[in-house]
Amino acid sequence: MRVLKFGGTSVGNADAFKQVAQIVARARQEDPEVVVVTSAMSKVTDLLIASAKAAAAGDRRLYREAQEELMARHQMVAGQLISDGVERAALGRLFESRLANFERLCRSVEVLGELTARGLDVISGIGERLAAPLLAAVLRANGVPAEWVDAAELIVTDNNFGNASPIMDLTTQHVNRRLRPLLHGGVVPVVTGFVGATVDGINTTLGRGGSDYSAAILGAALNADEVQIWTDVNGVMTADPRIVPDARTIPEISYIEAAELAYYGAKVLHPKTMLPAIERNIPLRVLNTFQPDHPGTLVVKEPKPSPLVVKAISVIKGLALITVEGRGMLGVPGIAARTFTAVARVGANVLMISQSSSEQSICFVVRESECNAVVGAVEAEMARELAARHIDRVAADTGIVIVAVVGAAMKGTPGISARIFTALGEAGINVIAIAQGSSECNISLVVAQGDADEAVRRIHAAFKLGEK
Ligand code: ADP
Ligand code: ASP
Ligand code: MG
Repeated sequence: MRVLKFGGTSVGNADAFKQVAQIVARARQEDPEVVVVTSAMSKVTDLLIASAKAAAAGDRRLYREAQEELMARHQMVAGQLISDGVERAALGRLFESRLANFERLCRSVEVLGELTARGLDVISGIGERLAAPLLAAVLRANGVPAEWVDAAELIVTDNNFGNASPIMDLTTQHVNRRLRPLLHGGVVPVVTGFVGATVDGINTTLGRGGSDYSAAILGAALNADEVQIWTDVNGVMTADPRIVPDARTIPEISYIEAAELAYYGAKVLHPKTMLPAIERNIPLRVLNTFQPDHPGTLVVKEPKPSPLVVKAISVIKGLALITVEGRGMLGVPGIAARTFTAVARVGANVLMISQSSSEQSICFVVRESECNAVVGAVEAEMARELAARHIDRVAADTGIVIVAVVGAAMKGTPGISARIFTALGEAGINVIAIAQGSSECNISLVVAQGDADEAVRRIHAAFKLGEK
């Protein structure tokens, strides 16, 4: 059995839907049991979220326009690809009712003047709940028996709205109970990506880009032979091809390397996608919907040995570097522990830590959006030390990025950092901070946002990743 996930561009317009139908039909010839997971049509989730936020700010224009635009985009695909009048009318009614609901939800957000995380999860999940019924109908129109399934019936999550985690034992039960009968009957379930529900049935989402994660969760629950992530590039590449035009496909990569890349900004896979796959040792294959014969990338536990020490470079933007510094910190125990406890208290995620060996400063990286809260929390925690001048300041530098250089073979290979620094030095790029995990699978560098893309290109060139 295989799970095939299609991303936003793969269901971006009628031509893309047609392409997906061919891919699914072909997959079924190779393996009769196929589960499909779909994202919302491209840009739809952004539009839903922007509309809800505008509604909370009292602006009703955006959600009204969005309602019309979404109706038109989905109807257009249905109109072009579904000739059966009954099917088309049923879909039209489904779009109508979903979008009327969207309008009602936004109206109440507007009236209340407030958007809760829980409310946002209902609104932001609407895109998948439009795309899945549409894709199922398109598959049927192409002779593939298919039925859409709302993942709220399948993926049971905690109530961490906006970034929920699955409860795997319950999810496994629900998935098998609901999907096995369809599969045995030769029907392809078309499941909404991105969304789930709590035990009480309240809608949740798995985080932006979370449909990849949905596919891996279903793959693990069904013990699939393979999970395929169909996207708009030829697999996991040596860098984001939008930044580095000569980036190349990596034929095989380990779960750990892929997770590092994804965590540090390689959007091609959601960072949590590898977790369920590792659990059941299920291979992930990243493939291109628009070049379906390209072999793409295989993500497995132990990839075939590669001559490349550095496999890929990623970059995560929109970050802030927080520095806690002062001579009085020297030898005072517990400063680091208290600092990170304060950070945890505001729920912020630390992406990288580095401490100077003199112990006179600790610096760490958080998302720019969380920066003010983090500085406030650390200042409050260190109020006494700040008053006594043991700590001089808690400073924040915004407008920075982390560039991550990833490759399992870096472990034990000397000279990697030197090559990175030489490449950046020659380009006049200043490295603000550096950290290496003890796994030695990743070297992370902090540079200014304005240097980000050039830094990636320079390191990519220094390790000759664009060459065969
Ligand atoms: P989907 O909608 O299919 O989920 P995404 O936009 O989420 O697709 O992810 C695919 C995009 O990820 C590519 O278009 C590419 O620009 C970007 N990307 C970033 N880093 C990488 C990388 N190392 N390899 C491939 N793609 C990458
Ligand atoms: N549609 C969702 C998003 O845009 C999930 C996904 O595309 O994976 O974040
Ligand atoms: Mg994605």
